[in-house]
Amino acid sequence: MGSGSQGNGLVFEAAGSRVLLDCGFAVRDATARLARLGLEPEDLDGILVTHEHSDHANGVFPLARRFGIPVWISFGTLTALAEADALAADGVKLTLIDGHASFAVGDILVQPYTVPHDAREPLQYVLSDGARRLGVLTDTGCSTPHIEATLSGCDALVLETNHDRELLMNGAYPAWLKARVAGPFGHLDNAASAQLLAALDRSRLRHLVAAHLSLKNNTPELARAALVEVMACEPEWVALATQDEGFGWLDLF
Ligand SMILES: [Zn+2]
Ligand SMILES: [Zn+2]
Repeated sequence: MGSGSQGNGLVFEAAGSRVLLDCGFAVRDATARLARLGLEPEDLDGILVTHEHSDHANGVFPLARRFGIPVWISFGTLTALAEADALAADGVKLTLIDGHASFAVGDILVQPYTVPHDAREPLQYVLSDGARRLGVLTDTGCSTPHIEATLSGCDALVLETNHDRELLMNGAYPAWLKARVAGPFGHLDNAASAQLLAALDRSRLRHLVAAHLSLKNNTPELARAALVEVMACEPEWVALATQDEGFGWLDLF
């Protein structure tokens, strides 16, 4: 649906079930973005939340409440959102996630995993139909053995390539924000993302999407080039998730 600091949302479909992973868009915008994918909000069986940052969580409860969609969320993320707005989740059916335990939403198998990011209890997810796995990693300050073990052997990956380190350090952000973004609980730069990718078992990888690009501190060319070098593939093989368009349906079959 879209990817970046202005809003994130990704739809996964398997065996007639659909989940929305994050919703950083207002209801009207989210509905329009779903329509672009041929979907209505009523088609969603659930919404999964990664963490409380507004580009991921802003639209979750409004969309869930409006269309009666259940939400899966970590206790820490829910607490952080409730501290900002005590009534945020009013009227929404919630299920709390254990970040180390898989669960099902309809026919979709959801494997949450923990990541280092400056949020209360941030999770990322591997989504599967039982046979094929999509690994999503949009917000992490660095890689970890746990992340690499979880994302190894996926059939498709949506991988954060947030910034180019040179562009960030020479750019207009204030020093504290540069330190936050580049720090171990911030965001993956292109080189760190490539290093993570290189550490994975990529033998089943059919699709790779560069995601969560900074509009100010990265370019699509730099992000793509970093991943292309690891894959030794044609540049076009690496897809890009953009802020306005996201990316179209990718088939894991
Ligand atoms: Zn974040
Ligand atoms: Zn984010």
